[in-house]
Amino acid sequence: MQILQDISLKPFNTFGMDVHADYYTEITNLAQLREIAENTALPAKRFVLGGGSNVLLTHTLHGILLHNKIKGIEKEKEDEDHVWVKVGAGEVWHDFVMYAIANHWAGVENLALIPGTVGAAPIQNIGAYGVEAKEVIDHVTAWHWEMQKEVPYQNAECAFGYRDSIFKHQLKDKVFITSVTFRLHKKPNFNTSYGAIEQELQKMDIQEVSIAAIADAVIAIRSSKLPNPREIGNAGSFFKNPTIPIEQYDALKESFPAIPSYPVSETTVKVPAGWLIEQCGWKGFRAGDVGVHEKQALVLVNYGGATGGAVWDLSDNIVKTVHDKYGIELEREVQVW
Ligand SMILES: Cc1cc2nc3c(=O)[nH]c(=O)nc-3n(C[C@H](O)[C@H](O)[C@H](O)COP(=O)(O)OP(=O)(O)OC[C@H]3O[C@@H](n4cnc5c(N)ncnc54)[C@H](O)[C@@H]3O)c2cc1C
Repeated sequence: MQILQDISLKPFNTFGMDVHADYYTEITNLAQLREIAENTALPAKRFVLGGGSNVLLTHTLHGILLHNKIKGIEKEKEDEDHVWVKVGAGEVWHDFVMYAIANHWAGVENLALIPGTVGAAPIQNIGAYGVEAKEVIDHVTAWHWEMQKEVPYQNAECAFGYRDSIFKHQLKDKVFITSVTFRLHKKPNFNTSYGAIEQELQKMDIQEVSIAAIADAVIAIRSSKLPNPREIGNAGSFFKNPTIPIEQYDALKESFPAIPSYPVSETTVKVPAGWLIEQCGWKGFRAGDVGVHEKQALVLVNYGGATGGAVWDLSDNIVKTVHDKYGIELEREVQVW
């Protein structure tokens, strides 16, 4: 295992922040995690990075950055309806989606083209187009730093929620996810009701819906809507869509009749953060190299030379203006280091 010092993480985060880590190494297997746990000469502070598509780096990382490259996809078992597939946490998420589709295994087609690694998918329970990763995760296996062994976390133990899981709370900084085992469907249950999928399928002149056609539609929609991090630094949605009590929503509707919402429960609704940010005049805002994307108010961007601090300050101003106008507190989806 090669441990490097004072490494720029610019190529490893989709915001393109030129932030350094004191120590850096790639992790390809479990034995290396054990070695790091036992090596007292290394810094105790550890950062785990996958595809770097959900992090904002604001300052030098004093510690060791563990870059997850654990690979491998293996069918573990199957029954009449399902197949259980164990996927190395360092596999690229979209490659796994394509692998599942090639094998006619359904369940992840709506999640095509989400950047990042398989190991990060359970952390914020990635979701798109009406589907969340929790629906197909059987269990997550993680190296536990204190126990010094791999521990399986069954789906029900993961406390999955909207862009949330136990890995953001009780298990934060305590584990390194090594693999995720998915339970995929042999008989697909198509989900085309969300967003523009139906419309896109018609545009593509698809006569018979299939998981491959849904993935193609999702890829086409995402490619036209979302800024490509290879062209402009970003981490996708910077904020979560806030959930508020229905009474608060009803009161807001009196002053802002156009305010949209999606039902969450009998007592709460979700309000699109992008709408709130846009209404505060931020869409397309630019100051130097930092800005709010011109088509997606939820996406903060680095036009080239922005610092993580400048993006953070912009996000802070957005939080304040949304709070002042609507009394709603936006929560950041991106992990800030
Ligand atoms: C253009 C764009 C579009 C996006 N669209 C969506 C979307 O539609 N839906 C959605 O949910 N997300 C979306 N995202 C966010 C992002 O793709 C997901 O959050 C993704 O799961 C992050 O994966 P990653 O490997 O890049 O994680 P990283 O950014 O590398 O890490 C994110 C967090 O997870 C931790 N972590 C990563 N791997 C491990 C591991 N193996 N063990 C323990 N901790 C780990 C890190 O320490 C960090 O705290 C988008 C991002 C971009 C740039």
